[in-house]
Parts: sequence; C-alpha cells; structure tokens
Amino acid sequence: MLSKSKYIRGLQCDRALWLDVYNPRLAKYTREQMQRFDRGRDFEYAFKSTFPDSIDLSAELKRNVDAYPARTAELLDRIHTPSPLRGTPPNLGGELKSVAAVDEHYLGSSPKLGEGDRREAVVEECETITLFEAGFLYDDVLVLADVVLQNPDGTLDIYEVKSGTALSDTYRRDAALQHYVISHCRPINKFCVVYNGLDGVNGSNGFNVVDLTEELEEQHGEITRNIAAMKDILRHGEPATPTGQHCLEPYACPYQHYCAQGVRQMSLFG
Ligand code: SF4
Repeated sequence: MLSKSKYIRGLQCDRALWLDVYNPRLAKYTREQMQRFDRGRDFEYAFKSTFPDSIDLSAELKRNVDAYPARTAELLDRIHTPSPLRGTPPNLGGELKSVAAVDEHYLGSSPKLGEGDRREAVVEECETITLFEAGFLYDDVLVLADVVLQNPDGTLDIYEVKSGTALSDTYRRDAALQHYVISHCRPINKFCVVYNGLDGVNGSNGFNVVDLTEELEEQHGEITRNIAAMKDILRHGEPATPTGQHCLEPYACPYQHYCAQGVRQMSLFG
C-alpha cells in the first residue's frame, strides 16, 4: 500500500521509494530535518485549534493506519443516518477531542439510552462534523487528511496544512494525490492548502488559505499513471538509480549515506 509520503518520495527517486517501502530503517534524518518536522507539527496544530468540537482520529487509532478509512467512513456516514433519537448537542469546548473523549462525554448523558445509541444520537444532532487525520483509501493508496469538514449535504471541505511560507510545487503534488484519493471515496466541495502566512506580516492572521480544487481535478490522469509506475517499481528488486542532483531536491534524501556507500564500493571494486 502506498501512502502520501511514499508517493512524494517516489516522485523524487525510484530507489528512495523502494527503500521507503522495503528498508525504511536505512533512512537517516539530520537534526535540522527533525526540527523542521517539529515546526510543521506545531503549525498544523495551531491551525487545527481554530476548529472547535472536532474529532481527532489519531488520538484513538494512533499508528494503526489500516483502521483509519473504516473509522472515517463510520463517522461520516453516521451524521446522515436518520435517527428517532433527539437530545441536546454537547458543548465539547474548543479543545481537540479524541473519539474516546467524545465517547466518554456521551456516556452517561442519558440513563434511558444504551451506550451506542447515546453517541449516535448526539453525533446525529450535528449538521456538520470535523475530523482530524481522516483516512481514505483508493487504488491501494492511503491518505490521512489534516482537517476534513463534512457539510450538511455530505460534501467535504478539506484543509491540508503546510508550514512553509510559499505554495511550492511539492505542496501542490501532495494536495493533488490527496484530492485524487479522497474524490474517489466522497464528493469534495473544496480542497484548500494552508501555508504559513507569517503571523502579523501584511495583516495576515498567520494562515494563508488557497483553494486549489479546480487545479487538482485536472491532475487525476497524471496521478493514475504515476501510481501505476510506482507499483511496478515495487514489484521488482531495488533500482540501481545513480545519485545526482535529485538526491537534494526538492528534499534532502535520507538515504544519501546508503547510496554513497554503494558508490564507494563500486569505485573500490570497479
Ligand atoms: S540518495 Fe539519491 S539515488 Fe539514493 S535513494 Fe536517495 S535520491 Fe535516490
């Protein structure tokens, strides 16, 4: 199964994709790269905190990635399921909520209802639902979307959060893959990329939100071909891709030390 990060790696290098799937322990990240990941997480969390009453699937499912699509479908479908049960919607506050926390809130809300009924009743009271890290699977590609808001008509508004200060080509490719997968699972109303607006600069609130929906729809054909090519790479042995400028762009490849060893061995025994 491919993921978004593996797909992006595969666009950079066949061999890096292969190593990501079959030998990821060889990857080595610098301290600077790790700090960049941390900054990205902080920025993502800041944006997510602007969506109160959301359900964070990662708090419940952790690294059990296979479970995300089914749990996402269950939550999205539930809001459109008619129910005779009615009650007062909960005030969940402005904090991020795990599904477990929402469950706990619902338990005990009414002694007349069973456990499942109580949660069902409250979720169905909402016209919309917002999920963090909602999972979607299509064509053996799994993506987890940062923020997914389901509208009353069942369509989705999706926000992919990036901490960079410009809308790079890699961000666009990343968003295009997500749009491709999600649009084959659910109708999309809009797909936005959120990047760093440098809080306070030019009157920005810190979040630049760009709607890329139309642009992303046009890339489905190319993505179908890319996925097929990557699956083909993974059906064979490790590619003998030589090192070069692509090892540094758009990201510094974490397998450079490994590939450099191969180059050294070839020059010693060649
Ligand atoms: S170091 Fe270069 S050749 Fe080796 S896997 Fe990374 S990008 Fe590919």
